[in-house]
Amino acid sequence: MSQIRYDLLHDRYVIIAPERMHRDGFLLDGGVPEDEDTCPFCETKESLTPPEIDAIRAQGAPNGPGWKVRVVPNLYKMLRIEAPTEHHHESVYEWQDGFGAHEIIIDMPRHETRMDRWTKEEYVTWLTMIRRRVLDLRNDFRLVFLSVFKNHGRNAAATKGHPHTQIVAMPLVPKTITARLRHQVAYFDHHGRPVAEALLHEALARKSCVILQNDSFVALTPYASAMPFEVWVVARRQIPSITDLCETGIHALASILETLFVRLYAVLGVFDFNLVFEIPPLQPNGESGAFFDRLAQSYRFGVRIVPRLSGIGGFEYATGMFVNPVAPEEAAAKLREAGR
Ligand SMILES: [Zn+2]
Repeated sequence: MSQIRYDLLHDRYVIIAPERMHRDGFLLDGGVPEDEDTCPFCETKESLTPPEIDAIRAQGAPNGPGWKVRVVPNLYKMLRIEAPTEHHHESVYEWQDGFGAHEIIIDMPRHETRMDRWTKEEYVTWLTMIRRRVLDLRNDFRLVFLSVFKNHGRNAAATKGHPHTQIVAMPLVPKTITARLRHQVAYFDHHGRPVAEALLHEALARKSCVILQNDSFVALTPYASAMPFEVWVVARRQIPSITDLCETGIHALASILETLFVRLYAVLGVFDFNLVFEIPPLQPNGESGAFFDRLAQSYRFGVRIVPRLSGIGGFEYATGMFVNPVAPEEAAAKLREAGR
């Protein structure tokens, strides 16, 4: 069983999850990602996964073919919903059992390893399911925070080639996230507008970092991008979470992502990446209680795509400070030109 341990030296939490050692492809010899014949996420291989939590189907019964998107528990969970939620203290050590949820969204039935080949409808179905899972997990008041992300390719820590997204929901807010939230609320209190709004306003005025936009979203390369070709797709209006997106918003986000991935592949070729949904905490806790009710005004929903063109080195690990060899203005210019 996993544990969430508090690192007193660095003031952060770490999940110790020995079960994850046994994943396919985890060990260094790794091997190659599975092909369609052996892939447990492909349509008709439903019996190879644990029973599904949710699905959107065109036809068929649960745990059989006919689905468009499917959600299953992760077989190699970081956290599990059956674990107790008590805290433990022993001398300078502090931990809790690995309580939480770890779900896999299987994005589509076909083994499509390139996101530039997704259809608009596939993006819409995928986003609709993510919104539905966040709404559902929010009903469990023990879950305070969740992370929704994609690891795509070996350099981005993926062990499965089939397109999938992970959700990890937990009983605490990671310390770096709490610090970021506090900073964003403080900015809002001081300036009267969300920091994301201020950055978006400036990017639209200067234009050099804007890649594309529609009525609801803007895709841009952040002024201080940590990684080469990092892209931030940010909501134009103040919505804090994916759960606040209406149908029109889902379609607008789908269409911007569809175009964006065509351009990213055109510029970068086949590349590994992480994709992260920026979602605020689900419930207040001891640390966020003081400012939780102000997050709706100050926290802005977005999606971040982080190409993993090189690894993270000792300097980045030691300092949390990144060295980015590609100016965001240059990356944006290339991604704009790819659309011409
Ligand atoms: Zn597959």
